[in-house]
Amino acid sequence: MKEFHVETKCIQEGWKPSNGEARVLPIYQSTTYKYDSGEHLGQLFDLSAPGHMYTRISNPTVACVEEKIAALEGGVGAMCTSSGQAASLLSIFNITSSGENFVSCSTIYGGTVNLFAVTMKRMGIEVRFARPDMTDEEIHALFDEKTRLVFGETIANPALNVLDIERFAAIAHAHNVPLVIDNTFATPVICRPFEFGADIVIHSTTKYLDGHASVVGGVIVDSGKFDWQASGKYPELTTPDESYHGVVYTRDFGSAAYITKARVQLMRDLGTTPQPIAMYILNLGLETLALRMERHFENGLAVAKYLEGHDKISWVNNPALPSNTQYERCQKYLGGKSCGVVSFGVKGGRDAAMRFMNHLQLAQIVVHVADARTCVLHPASTTHRQLTDQQLVDAGIGPDLIRMSVGIENIDDILADIENALSQV
Ligand SMILES: *Cc1c(COP(=O)(O)O)cnc(C)c1O
Repeated sequence: MKEFHVETKCIQEGWKPSNGEARVLPIYQSTTYKYDSGEHLGQLFDLSAPGHMYTRISNPTVACVEEKIAALEGGVGAMCTSSGQAASLLSIFNITSSGENFVSCSTIYGGTVNLFAVTMKRMGIEVRFARPDMTDEEIHALFDEKTRLVFGETIANPALNVLDIERFAAIAHAHNVPLVIDNTFATPVICRPFEFGADIVIHSTTKYLDGHASVVGGVIVDSGKFDWQASGKYPELTTPDESYHGVVYTRDFGSAAYITKARVQLMRDLGTTPQPIAMYILNLGLETLALRMERHFENGLAVAKYLEGHDKISWVNNPALPSNTQYERCQKYLGGKSCGVVSFGVKGGRDAAMRFMNHLQLAQIVVHVADARTCVLHPASTTHRQLTDQQLVDAGIGPDLIRMSVGIENIDDILADIENALSQV
């Protein structure tokens, strides 16, 4: 059968009931699974038979959501995690050890900057930041023998620059390492990074994939395309894992080597496991993802166009605006669309920005982004507060920047709220 379109996958992938079973994804709220023989369970521990043995490692409800997201991204497998942060950490730690390093685009989520630059440093893993305006030579110069991957965000949170995925994939592959993409803001509805050469995709499912600001979660998706064996840099995938009596992931699991190791080794040992009930809620969100993204994009662009024509606004950033520096990349990678996030500066700097925010009524001030409700945030004093001035500049965040996450309410109500708040500035 022909591959389904994205709207259909959102509904139909994942849980596929057989005769007489529940139509809707059941919540398997169980830590454990029953087997008829000790031998069978032993085989599960040896990874020589498929099946669930303990919910820290896998669970039927979670597995259905993983299948749906893998289908949406076009990957061979996925693993859900308890948060987006856990997905970022595990995606890197799976193939990078103490004493090794990786290259990351500098325009990324502030929480990821902390994880990379502070916490992973304590694990002996070094991050080397590449600014998107660096030349290829300058980025190549960041690599050495110990570099294990390249990391970037499709649409950066909150700078909103669109990553030149093909360029960063070519740079990574020239060094025989994979490109890992955080596709949180774009979602597979707007961009499928594997089609542009990315090897691993991660998400904070807390954002658009859930879409209702209900559950924190993350996911790692494996394209199955990176040749770990040929690269020669990943003995953890290509030589025996003593913690599984000598399993060799590339030999025993083929194109799913990376995602299998992430689950059976890292999830087993680190336990950043999602709850079945949370994945049930995530699945409800996923069913309407394609519909919601369409409206988020339309409303976001309408807000951006309105602000662009307003005399109290100094600048507006949304990649789908024809005047935007990212417009061409937006056509190429996002099909001319974007998410519902718009950033802008209110004339008068930080104080005017605060005044504007405090007078919004429909749009509320929350530490969140990318859900059905319109909300605003001042990153420099909140999510990116821990960053130094230089890190703020590198991340593309000025003191006057307001990030508005445009929801799926009626656009006239959203614009009236903005108009009223601007009249108070
Ligand atoms: C929110 C976010 C994260 C972190 O995800 P959590 O689910 O909050 O742990 C990572 N990357 C991006 C782009 C995000 O927006």
